[in-house]
Amino acid sequence: MKNLVSIVAPMYNEEEMAPLFYETISKIMDKIQDQYDTELVLVNDGSRDKTWEILKEFHEKDHRVHAIKFSRNFGHEAAITAGLKYAKGDAVIIMDADLQDPPELIFQMLEKFEEGYEIVNAKRADRKKDGFLKRKTAEEYYEVIYRLSGKIKVPKNVGNYRLMSKRVVEAVNALPEHNRVFRVLVPFVGYKTTELEYVRPARPKGETKYNYNSMFKLAGDSIVSSSLVPLSWAFKLSLDLIAISVLALITTLVFYILGRCGIDPFIFWDTGLYLILSFISLGFSLCLFFIGILSQYQARTFVEAQQRPLFIVEEDLENK
Ligand code: UDP
Ligand code: MG
Repeated sequence: MKNLVSIVAPMYNEEEMAPLFYETISKIMDKIQDQYDTELVLVNDGSRDKTWEILKEFHEKDHRVHAIKFSRNFGHEAAITAGLKYAKGDAVIIMDADLQDPPELIFQMLEKFEEGYEIVNAKRADRKKDGFLKRKTAEEYYEVIYRLSGKIKVPKNVGNYRLMSKRVVEAVNALPEHNRVFRVLVPFVGYKTTELEYVRPARPKGETKYNYNSMFKLAGDSIVSSSLVPLSWAFKLSLDLIAISVLALITTLVFYILGRCGIDPFIFWDTGLYLILSFISLGFSLCLFFIGILSQYQARTFVEAQQRPLFIVEEDLENK
């Protein structure tokens, strides 16, 4: 019996890309059909354009297509969560629907899978085509997550494009948390992993659904999900601040004694006052900063406690 390969793609307002994506991926599925059975799991994440009508057509004409429609837009990671839940493959490949994840890499991913790798990550070779700000923020993002993720080591420049074996998918699906950043969850699971490098092309059609707000949220979710280290920063810094305060106290005492002895130590008084005020305002800012960090964790703990479903499926057109 042949192994089943599932290709999973989330789609949000992708009416321009969907036909091109399907055409490209179905050709790849045709090419591997001697070796594998295939299915294409397409999750429509509450698109407001014609994406769902297009997916229904694919499902009607192609028995390999499994089309799922969310009741509204739940977000990229929620759509991936659904795709992984519905995919039945022995190997499951997650990719964006805009062909920025080069489909030709699928052949090499499957070779690695046959060699016994259970996770094959696609790693971006360079970001020369990105704008300066996007490149810098992405570099910092991966650097921070890599440093904070401790033993797990979230790989740099690896997004969502990857192949996973069935048992990796089952392990990821079994993780109970709502905060689902896949690039963090998959390395947590472990298993034999390798990487393939690729250059990310520009989007052929349509536009990005990520703005700086959603990228900021993704960065927050990734940090909170991969590390508790930021929570210890306030405590560590407070020890330094206590030491500085003790030093300030001793200096005041020395000044007081000097004053008593008739020596005037207050020639630096003005500068000293400014220093003290700056120190107090720095202290306040640091307090607010650490309350900010705390609230990032607190808010996400609240979301976990709410236990709402990650997504709601309105229609499920299974492959035949
Ligand atoms: N996407 C989604 N839900 C969203 C936003 C995006 O399912 O709320 C999908 C989108 O259709 C695409 C993938 O996630 O298949 C990546 O999105 P995009 O190309 O906009 O991200 P970028 O490549 O710019 O980071
Ligand atoms: Mg894209």
